[in-house]
Amino acid sequence: MIIDTHSHLQFDAFDDDRDEVIKRTLAENIQCINVGCSLDSSKKAVELAEKQAGFFAAIGLHPTDADEPFDVQQYRELAKSKKVIAVGEIGLDFFRKPFDPVKQKQVFIQQLDLAQELDLPVILHCRMAHDEVIQIISNFKFQNSNLRGVVHCFTGTWEQAQKYMDMGFYLGINGIIFKFNIDEVIKNAPLEKLLLETDCPFLTPLPAVALAKAGSYGPRNEPIFMKYTIEKIAKLKSISAQEVAQKTTENARNLFKI
Ligand SMILES: [Zn+2]
Repeated sequence: MIIDTHSHLQFDAFDDDRDEVIKRTLAENIQCINVGCSLDSSKKAVELAEKQAGFFAAIGLHPTDADEPFDVQQYRELAKSKKVIAVGEIGLDFFRKPFDPVKQKQVFIQQLDLAQELDLPVILHCRMAHDEVIQIISNFKFQNSNLRGVVHCFTGTWEQAQKYMDMGFYLGINGIIFKFNIDEVIKNAPLEKLLLETDCPFLTPLPAVALAKAGSYGPRNEPIFMKYTIEKIAKLKSISAQEVAQKTTENARNLFKI
C-alpha cells in the first residue's frame, strides 16, 4: 500500500471521470489525502473522504487564496469529521503576484494556531518564502513543542531542508523532481523524512507526460503516476522502489495517524 499525501481529487479537473480515477487509484492499492485550498475545496475533500474508505482530508486556506476571509469557526466544524487528519495546505507564496505578505502571514499563523488547538499536523505550501516560513515555524516550536507536519512539494535548498527536518518536519516529494533539480536533497535526506505525493491534477511526472503524448492517460496528473517518482527516488538513493514505497508509507502513517 502507498499513500498519496497530497492530492486534489476533489478539484474540477476530475469532474468528468472522478469515479474512474478513484477506481484506478484503489486498484493500485493507493490511499489518498485530498487537500483543501479554500473553504469550498476543503468541504469537498471532506465529502470525498466520508464516502470513500482509504481517503482522508486536510482542510485549510491556501496562501494564494488568502483574500478569502479565514473563518476559523467553519474550519472547526469541518474538523469534526474523523476523516480530517491535517490542516493544510497553508503557508506563504511570494511567487504568484500580486501578493500581500502581511495578510498571508496573518492567515498562516491563525491556521497554525488552529492546528495546535486541534492537535493535527500541518501541510505546508511554500514558494519563494522558505526563510520566512522557517522563522514562523521555529517561533511556534519555541512555544509549542507539538507542531509537526510536512513541507509539501519541497524545492528548497539542502540547508533549508535540514532546518525543517531539525524541527521534526517531513519533506513532500512529487513529480516536480523531474523538472526541478533537488537530487542533492533526495540523496542526503534520510528516507525516514520523506513523504510521497502527487499534487494532482498538477505536476505530472515527465514519464507520464510522455505516455500522454502516446495517447494514454494524462497529461493531467493522478495518484497512479507516483510510481515514477518512487523509481526516481530509489535510483537516487540506490535502494529498491519497494523500500521507498514501504518506508514512506510508514512515515505517512506515523505523521497523520492513519
Ligand atoms: Zn496542492
